[in-house]
Amino acid sequence: MLSEIGKDRIKKAKVITILTGAGVSAESGIPTFRGEGGLWKNYPPEDLASPEGFKKNPQLVWEWYNWRRNIIRKADSNKAHLGIKKLENNVDNLYVITQNVDGIHKKTGIKNLIELHGNIFRNKCYKCGRPFGDITSEEIPVCDVCGGYIRPDVVWFGETIPANILERSYKWSKRADVFLLVGTSGIVYPAASFPLYAKENGAYVIEINKEKTVLSPHINETILEPASEGMKIILDIYKS
Ligand code: NAD
Ligand code: ZN
Repeated sequence: MLSEIGKDRIKKAKVITILTGAGVSAESGIPTFRGEGGLWKNYPPEDLASPEGFKKNPQLVWEWYNWRRNIIRKADSNKAHLGIKKLENNVDNLYVITQNVDGIHKKTGIKNLIELHGNIFRNKCYKCGRPFGDITSEEIPVCDVCGGYIRPDVVWFGETIPANILERSYKWSKRADVFLLVGTSGIVYPAASFPLYAKENGAYVIEINKEKTVLSPHINETILEPASEGMKIILDIYKS
């Protein structure tokens, strides 16, 4: 459900900024980190998606990424991704910032997109930083220049987001008349600070999630629905 005030703010919004998380891809069959199906061989993602985890057991981390890449390779966009794409037709400016590394928003052709945490199909050398494309080997590959291990080019827990990308994310958040959170638990920073920053700067903040989150008490309203259904509710506003 969405309040009349919320509907009115959406209808009048010239700029909508959306922050998406793993929940937007859940209906594509891609497991989230938190919630059912998120665990792989009983390892918490925080132990695998971190420099410490990689240092401890690079082969294990590589295998986990192989598992995730294989799921994502087979996955397609769902009605939530497509609904976000459709929203581009209803506002002057739609900005999408995603924490997902699955590349699905890019596939749907979102014009203004930031992949905040990188892309799982890109790799780089852990030692010298040399970029590599998609690699499917079961064994962890090594860099042909320096001999270092190759890792996915994603932002791990404890790593920083490049300054220019972060700056652009704050700019898009500040411009928002309405800020939408879709399928994110709101516990990963700095992403979780974007909706709060947007609100401080006058945005009306709405979240779409199957559950309440730690951000729920600090924002304007929550649509307690799966991402696809939530996006349908948003799009239906323009029909009335
Ligand atoms: P998260 O796993 O912490 O939280 C997922 C959120 O989605 C939860 O709040 C859950 O209630 C909600 N959710 C689950 N199914 C939903 C549905 N069908 N509709 C709406 N909401 C639903 O994910 P996060 O907040 O994105 O943060 C964790 C990190 O996980 C991110 O940095 C991201 O890089 C990484 N991640 C990415 C992918 C991906 O690329 N698809 C998948 C898993 C994790
Ligand atoms: Zn190297």
